[in-house]
Amino acid sequence: MVHKHDVAIIGGGVVGCSVLFELTNRGFDCVLLEKNESLVAEASCGNSGMLHTGFDAPLNSIELDCIRICQRRIFDVLDRLHLPCKKIGATMVAWKQEELTRLSEIEVHARQCEVSDVVSLSMSQLYQREPHLSLGAYGALLIPAESVVDPWLMPVAFASHSKRKGAEIKTECLVTSCQQQSQYDWQIETTSGIARASCVINCAGLYGDIVDKLGGFQNFQILPRKGQYLVYEKRANSLLNSSILPIPSQVGKGVIIFRSVYDNVLVGPTSEEVTSRLLPAIDNDVARRLTKHCDDTIPGLKNYQVVTQYAGVRPATQTKDYIIKADRNKSWITIGGIRSTGVSGCLGIAEKVYDLLTENIGLDPSRSLTAINSLNYRRIADDYVVIDGAAYKITHPITLSGMEYSAKL
Ligand SMILES: Cc1cc2nc3c(=O)[nH]c(=O)nc-3n(C[C@H](O)[C@H](O)[C@H](O)COP(=O)(O)OP(=O)(O)OC[C@H]3O[C@@H](n4cnc5c(N)ncnc54)[C@H](O)[C@@H]3O)c2cc1C
Repeated sequence: MVHKHDVAIIGGGVVGCSVLFELTNRGFDCVLLEKNESLVAEASCGNSGMLHTGFDAPLNSIELDCIRICQRRIFDVLDRLHLPCKKIGATMVAWKQEELTRLSEIEVHARQCEVSDVVSLSMSQLYQREPHLSLGAYGALLIPAESVVDPWLMPVAFASHSKRKGAEIKTECLVTSCQQQSQYDWQIETTSGIARASCVINCAGLYGDIVDKLGGFQNFQILPRKGQYLVYEKRANSLLNSSILPIPSQVGKGVIIFRSVYDNVLVGPTSEEVTSRLLPAIDNDVARRLTKHCDDTIPGLKNYQVVTQYAGVRPATQTKDYIIKADRNKSWITIGGIRSTGVSGCLGIAEKVYDLLTENIGLDPSRSLTAINSLNYRRIADDYVVIDGAAYKITHPITLSGMEYSAKL
């Protein structure tokens, strides 16, 4: 007889790991099913690792709501788990006079989003704060609370902590079909056997639309969007004190020059519609455009080496906002289209899932909460970190190129 869990989470990216963490901490019996041999191996291993404040998120969106909740909770959780985080702030620069109106609109928008510490900088304040920036800026905004985390370690630590608290994590476990036997009884066929759960939560990222169909839904279609980066050596980090943002365009935040939590300087991401959901190859023309962006913005970067390059894919959909929906009769929750702020909104998404699970799906919320305790982790080889005695393969270039071998708690 196969054990029936309360919840089966399909997908071990930042969203699935965060949902697992939240629900396990709130006393639910969870299993996470991940098709790859490692966690965090798709959309979540090709991002910038920024914890955005939500200053530019669409008003009245689920996305803004999730980011706000996450901002309230994440710093305490990172602290308890002893995970790295740096509040380095961001500076948005207008390089053309005609961008000044947009800059003022963004300042107003930030206040509407309740990010109230955003301030405009005079040009002398800008160049005092960022002396290596090219001359010729027309205006700038400071967003002091923008932060960076390790985008691989954080979700993997969430998963590891959940395992410690009794959750089951199955990798190399592709979900191939889902059969509902009765309202609270799903039988899930995978390439490594059958799983059973009262409720299924679709956190399948770039394959979210395909997994939704397995549950009998057709909520959205994934339209993959690529983003490419250059990573510079750590010695370049003296050239910037905050993330340097351009004025955002219709397609996104634009190319940013920033420091990772481990102090490598990165430039990216681009934003390109692609057809494949697989991690994309590096395009040399795009790399040249990124180099030019650096030369134009912080010319001193010319003197430093690019140590690696990478590209990721955003699980964008035909709609701009996140899709977070529950179907009570089917006892199924869909989380889809978490395209560009899944790290920033992770605990907000997870909290919304908890609310849906207890209020909409109707699973009993009266369970014992568990405490969040610190984790021991240590990089033991080029591509492995041991957390709580188990080895996890590093899949994110920010961690690979930045984490020290001595990182240990
Ligand atoms: C270029 C770029 C830059 C970004 N920058 C930032 C940033 O700075 N800050 C920020 O907050 N966000 C950023 N994001 C967004 C963030 O990375 C995404 O929102 C997030 O990774 C989405 O996570 P996910 O868990 O939904 O998807 P994924 O990471 O894709 O995880 C889904 C998982 O489901 C698994 N899966 C799929 N189908 C099945 C199946 N049938 N059976 C079992 N498992 C299955 C997959 O293998 C995968 O591991 C960026 C994204 C990109 C690409």
